[in-house]
This record gives sequence, structure tokens and C-alpha cells, in this order.
Amino acid sequence: MSPTRVLVLNSGSSSVKYQLLDMRDHSRLAVGLVERIGEETSRLRHRPLWAGGEDREREGAVADHDAALEAVAEELAKDGLGIDSPELAAIGHRVVHGGRRFTEPTVVDDAVLAEIERLIPVAPLHNPANLTGIRVARGLRPDLPQVAVFDTSFHTTMPESAARYAIDTETADRHRVRRYGFHGTSHAYVSRATARLLGKEPEDVNVIVLHLGNGASASAVRGGRCVDTSMGLTPLEGLVMGTRSGDVDPAVIFHLMRVGGMSADEIDELLNKKSGLIGLCGDNDMREIRRRVEAGDERARLAFDIYVHRLKKYIGAYYAVLGRVDAVAFTAGVGENSAPVREAALAGLESLGLEVDGGLNTAPGDAARFISPAHARVAVAVVPTDEELEIATQTYELVGKDV
Ligand code: AMP
Repeated sequence: MSPTRVLVLNSGSSSVKYQLLDMRDHSRLAVGLVERIGEETSRLRHRPLWAGGEDREREGAVADHDAALEAVAEELAKDGLGIDSPELAAIGHRVVHGGRRFTEPTVVDDAVLAEIERLIPVAPLHNPANLTGIRVARGLRPDLPQVAVFDTSFHTTMPESAARYAIDTETADRHRVRRYGFHGTSHAYVSRATARLLGKEPEDVNVIVLHLGNGASASAVRGGRCVDTSMGLTPLEGLVMGTRSGDVDPAVIFHLMRVGGMSADEIDELLNKKSGLIGLCGDNDMREIRRRVEAGDERARLAFDIYVHRLKKYIGAYYAVLGRVDAVAFTAGVGENSAPVREAALAGLESLGLEVDGGLNTAPGDAARFISPAHARVAVAVVPTDEELEIATQTYELVGKDV
């Protein structure tokens, strides 16, 4: 029988998340996470869904990604799901930046590794860790296809009018400065799932996808193809996020350098790690912010209002970009769970056909569902994202032909 399992790896700078899926029914056999790699206090958490039983935890130093993947392999082997199993069809890797070249998931060979490495200057935080994950996994199973699935691929269909910044073309091209967009795996998955919810084919619908997690981005998807997205050269542009500022006047940076005496690295850290919701009110968890708002906290209220104001501007912008909108889909941690954010983001947009039904919006639920009233011209939906399933599906589609 052909192998049917896919291991999905998401390797960050100090963590590795993993899921093992069976592609016959998309069931999860095991999921887990290794955190704080390289520190004394590393931790592995493993959930053996297939074998059943208690979650397992290991504490103690995990020196590097080699050691982390060794530990993951050991845990999987305990459940009878070893990485050496003939039932494993491929390993799918999340890779954050694929530049313009990688428009599709790609089987990794030496040339592909070299190209991902060449993109490090535009993704210094992410691509090195993603590369390490691929190299280590290749070492463990050199015979197995390793597939890179890129966060940027879904956005490579953006027209030049949306992808280019209005700066000197020669300078931009020399340094590969353009808008790439991120969270593409999620935007792809959610836009298709929204079409399914509408009972239509992706080619026949226009969707605004709002991926609101700790990182956040919006995209305009016309007939299944991305035509604009809010993140740019890096994931810093666009919406207000947990710790990132999103859009600012670029002159803020020169001002902070010249007047504030800050270095480029300090401003990088300020805008990526100490801004957004945490910079505005000291919390980046929307649950805590809402608790504070309910308790009358003014700073939390302002942070919430700034977050929602930016979101509303992007919804309006992408409505104009698409011309006709069939659905607005909310996804990721905040999008799937925060009824107040969804309500506030669409408040006052009835003239655009956008409405939220209070009862549907606050009703609990885990499945993809509509939250707009039956008479609304534009559907509003909550559509849980599943990036691991999307990576596994794309990986399996690519290698399934050969196995
Ligand atoms: P993600 O990056 O998609 O995992 O989203 C993480 C964020 O989702 C957290 O930082 C919270 O702000 C938010 N979040 C998670 N659960 C809830 C909830 N029940 N209500 C509101 N926000 C939530």
C-alpha cells in the first residue's frame, strides 16, 4: 500500500512545532512542540492522539534543532509512528519566505536549499530556522521527499500594482524590495473553505480574509487568487498586531534615529516586539484586553479602538480593490474567538451590505459558520484556519503522484 502519512514541521528560531497526519482521512496521529531550544529550560510536549493516553512532557536542555528533531523522532517511535516508518510519505516544512521564485510547494533538493538561503536577507528571522529544520529532517530520512511550503506563495499572484512600493525601481529591484505578503497558507486555506461554506467553487467567489492572530494580516482574494495583502517586504506592514505596529509613516523611523538617537536595530525591535497592542496597553492577548475594557480601563479601550480602526480601513480598502465581495472571513486566534472585534470591525458598514447578527456572532462554535443575518448582501463568516492540514495537503498532493 502507498504511504499515507505526512509529518509537518514548523521550525522557528527556538522552537519546532510538529504534526503527523494520515492523509486518507486527514486525522491527526500526533501533535507536539519543542520550545526554548538552546536553553537549559527546553521543553517538549507531545500529544499521542493515535495511540491514545496521556500527553507526555520532557524538560531539560535541548541543545539545537538536531537534538530537538531526535527527541521528536523518539516520541513518535514510542507511539509506533517512527520517522523511519514506511508509511511516511513525506515531510512538509513551513518556510516563511519563498521570494518570487517559489509560487508553489516544492520538493527540496540542493538547489532549492541554496535559493531559500539566498532569501535570508529578506527574512533574517525566519528562513535560517526553517532551513535548519529541513537539513536536519533530510539527515534523518535522506530517502524521503522533503517539501517546502512557502508562506509567500499564495501572494505571488498579486499584480505589480499591488506588489510594488512606489520607490525608485532600480533601487527596489537591486535589493528585492517589494511586497511579498505572509500567512499565505492560511489565506489560501480559509479562502477555499469560505467558498465551500458558500456552496461555491473558489473560482466563483471574491473573499476578504482577515487572519487575526498574534500576527495579523488581511487579503483580498478574487476567484481563488490573491490580488492584495496587508503584509509587505516583511510581516511588519499592515494591521495592528500583538506586538507589531503594522503601518506607520516610514519617516517615524528617521525621526526616531535623528531625534530619538535610536539605532536601526533598536527601532526594528521597537516596531516588531514592543508595539501593536502590547506597546499601546501592555497586553497582547485580546482576552485580557477585553477584560480590561469591560472593567473601564481607558488604555485598553484605546488599544482596542486603534486595532479595530485599522482593521476597518483594510476591509474598506479591499472592498474597493475587489469591487464585488461575496464574503468576509475571520480566522486565527482573535478572528475565530473574539466576537467584540468582529462586531466592532463591521459596525456601521451596512451600506456596503456588511452586517453581523448579534446572536450568531456570540454563539459558541468550532466549525466554519456564518455570523451575518440571512438577508445580508455579503456573507460574514468565522472560518477556523488549519495551516498544518494545508501544508500536509499540499505536500501530499505533490509527492502523492510519485509514491
Ligand atoms: P494565534 O496567533 O492565531 O494563535 O492567535 C493568538 C492570539 O489569539 C492570542 O494572543 C489572543 O490575543 C487571541 N485569542 C486566543 N483565544 C482568544 C479568545 N478566546 N478570545 C479572544 N482572543 C483570543
